[in-house]
Amino acid sequence: MFGKLLVANRGEIAVRVMQACEELGIETVAVYSDADRSAGHVAYADEAYNIGPAPASQSYLDGDAIIEVADRAGADAIHPGYGFLAENAEFAGKVEAAEGITWVGPSSDAMTTLGEKTNARRVMQEADVPVVPGTTEPVESADEVRELGDEFGYPIAIKAEGGGGGRGMKIVRGDEEVDDALESAKREGEAYFGNDSVYVEKYLEEPKHVEVQILADHHNTVLHLGERDCSLQRRHQKVIEEAPSTALDAELRDSIGDAARRGVREAGYTNAGTVEFLVEDGEFYFMEVNTRIQVEHTVTEEVTGIDIVREQIRVAADEELPYAQDDIGIDGHAIEFRINAENPANGFAPTPGTLSTYDPPSGLGVRIDDAISRGDEVSGDYDSMIAKLIVRAPTRERCLERSKRALRHFDVGVETTIPFHRLMLADETFRAGEHTTSYLDESVGDDD
Ligand code: ADP
Repeated sequence: MFGKLLVANRGEIAVRVMQACEELGIETVAVYSDADRSAGHVAYADEAYNIGPAPASQSYLDGDAIIEVADRAGADAIHPGYGFLAENAEFAGKVEAAEGITWVGPSSDAMTTLGEKTNARRVMQEADVPVVPGTTEPVESADEVRELGDEFGYPIAIKAEGGGGGRGMKIVRGDEEVDDALESAKREGEAYFGNDSVYVEKYLEEPKHVEVQILADHHNTVLHLGERDCSLQRRHQKVIEEAPSTALDAELRDSIGDAARRGVREAGYTNAGTVEFLVEDGEFYFMEVNTRIQVEHTVTEEVTGIDIVREQIRVAADEELPYAQDDIGIDGHAIEFRINAENPANGFAPTPGTLSTYDPPSGLGVRIDDAISRGDEVSGDYDSMIAKLIVRAPTRERCLERSKRALRHFDVGVETTIPFHRLMLADETFRAGEHTTSYLDESVGDDD
């Protein structure tokens, strides 16, 4: 096992990884920007090193600086968390090449194969996994896009090859919209992901977003840990996630899990990963693979009892997964609420500031993943998510009741998404589990 692990991240996920390390007897190294000198992840770590100014491009995205710190600190592993460098195959490759340092994640080759969306679509098709109808090569011209519009039928989505979180995705409802949409998808792809390559997919109007958690070791074991439902989205960004999904019956659950396993096995993928699908009218279609730990991994942990981050680290250290597929069962229901420093009454605008209060709920079935406390400054430099509330109960209905209790006792000294979550708990469509990915934007009418 590793002796010392560097976490190339900040916030709750950095602390989450360090907690797993602590239980495995691994020392931890934090890196931090000037804005994060007194941040929670720095306090939690055994050692911490400054890597530059507040803007992520000069600190958390500076891969060379991070590898240098790992070297200096004598760390023998790097865990990237999510966001920042987590899906950067080039950085993973540099870590692999660094003497005495192991990358906690899939190989850089597997990241390239499955992380690039058109590649991933090809691999999945080879493994007999149904994919959203679309192209397996990037498209160049507006004429090409119009031909595809005719072939698949509008609406279609033009999506950035490097995209995610709905960024770099443009929905096109007719020939006349193609020119503008193509240009802005390319522009966003370049601006957010440094890649202006785009491809085309049929746009499904009312799908559920269902994703399968994968764990694979270096000894030929590929497991799926069941699914998460992330259909509650605002502008294609996840807001509330849960496990299991209300959209699957036992048969569909088995076939989607098997499909995910087949696909990642085909790619020679190891470590943790998520295979994302859209589900509509009882059919499922592969959308993309996230080659990293995800924000919402927690709900899977709650219903399977498996510590996914611990297994990521063990797998990276060449250990075997201690389970077979038949050992994995789903027990109860779990829901995750993203607590963002945003004002839902003001178009979800960020609300950075000092936390005059921070008093999270506790009690049976309530888990808080965070890295902040009272008096801390919520910085405007990074993602607005300040905590995750994860609630667990024997049934979905009881989970909703328990969530209501937990959210009522969550006090934060800046505006957050808590009032929004409380409204959702009273929403009939959400309570019935009938919401699709377009539900929120349609019901609050602020889709752009
Ligand atoms: P990520 O899952 O990394 O955020 P995307 O940007 O590809 O990646 O997708 C975000 C969301 O956009 C999905 O969860 C889904 O709601 C929506 N979406 C993406 N592709 C399609 C599609 N072809 N049809 C309908 N909705 C889609």
